[in-house]
Amino acid sequence: MDAVASCVKPVHRHRIWNYLIHHMDTQKNEDTTDKSWHEVLPYDSWSVPRAARDAIAEKFVHFTTKVVERQDSARGDTTKLLIQLQDGHLIETVIMQHHHYRTVCLSSQIGCKMGCKFCATGTMGIIGNLTAGEILEQVVHANAISKIRNIVFMGMGEPMNNMDALCTSLDFLVDTRLFSLSPRHITVSTVGVVKNMRRLTDEYPTVNLALSLHAPNQEVRLKIVPSASAHKYEDLMLELAHRIAAWTANDKGYKLGPAQFGEAENSASDRSSNKLTRNFKKHVNGAGVMIEYILIKDINVLPEHAHELGKVLSSRREEVLLNLIPYNPTDIAEDFEPPTQESIDEFVRILISDQYRIHTRVRHEKGQDIDGACGQLVVQTNKKNSKAKSVDIEDTVKGGKKSNRRTELGGTSSVAKGQKYSFLSIHGVVTVASIGMFAVSAIRGA
Ligand code: SF4
Repeated sequence: MDAVASCVKPVHRHRIWNYLIHHMDTQKNEDTTDKSWHEVLPYDSWSVPRAARDAIAEKFVHFTTKVVERQDSARGDTTKLLIQLQDGHLIETVIMQHHHYRTVCLSSQIGCKMGCKFCATGTMGIIGNLTAGEILEQVVHANAISKIRNIVFMGMGEPMNNMDALCTSLDFLVDTRLFSLSPRHITVSTVGVVKNMRRLTDEYPTVNLALSLHAPNQEVRLKIVPSASAHKYEDLMLELAHRIAAWTANDKGYKLGPAQFGEAENSASDRSSNKLTRNFKKHVNGAGVMIEYILIKDINVLPEHAHELGKVLSSRREEVLLNLIPYNPTDIAEDFEPPTQESIDEFVRILISDQYRIHTRVRHEKGQDIDGACGQLVVQTNKKNSKAKSVDIEDTVKGGKKSNRRTELGGTSSVAKGQKYSFLSIHGVVTVASIGMFAVSAIRGA
């Protein structure tokens, strides 16, 4: 990317990024990849010298991804975007409407190697990492539909298995010259990649962490989260303690509460947990971590599980918010059953009792009528494509067999020779034919 760096000064890069982020209507111009720079950005709005403009026009496309399908829930509170990458792979991005703001749920990988047994994405295995540009372009697509205030990395993939791209994306998202989002409005979810939980804490202490715990102990966790064999329960708890200490040290009076992570629903257990969460908001100054816990019948929702979880979390009750998510069956993931309402109510009652007083909330997934579970739309679409062509899923992508462009390991990713970079993802490689504007993001802090 030296060639770009030498002819496009940071100030001009930022000007163009800014234009792409705030003025491009990717919904209207669906195929912006095929438009010329001059068509999309009139010269007057660039204020960029001719040499830099020509270099960019020669080497970059605006975006490398495009929205190929949009689904809106009947209630109008959820929109799911099916986004196609330039090599044909599909990912999902979900926009959720809360009272006064919108949250976008971003994907960080194509598929996922963690293989959680209740998750549609987990059934895909890992195809590869997204570049930072591909992550950021999801925000641009979402912004074109509705102004986004909150970001959650809870879509396809384990963000902490794509750590460098995640960090670059965070840099862009909080940069006041670019997306200008508050780190308090960004949440990174992990199923527990211990080493990178530490890195996130150390490098981004004010970005929120959501730990997908899903069990009160290692034994139960292993039944539904296979990656737990590599990331032990006790190590997660140590990391949790480290995170909370860092949060408390960095806290400036910020309070964690429902507005941070979206509204809750209205069942009896929801109402009681809402009340507790409001109290939590009132009393807690040093906030910490959201714990995600999917409730699956006969697996992890028995009263003894609630007691055990209560014991695990009670010493951290001032710093954690427990999010209970009743499992919703899909035709993709393993044959689990949703919990009964009685078992949910009992689970909540135990946790919020005076014995444990855990700040607990029941969260129902939005947009169930639009293939709401993570990865469900992509898996269904891949299946349909596969049937239509009578070929393997991997053959349905434009490039043919499983893409060789993706680097799964090492936390970095790049595109293969002959593919394009968007300007949002300049990644230090200019051996490709052309690249897109967000590709420049690997020059961190540029
Ligand atoms: S729940 Fe998250 S970490 Fe687990 S398989 Fe699904 S995408 Fe991966």
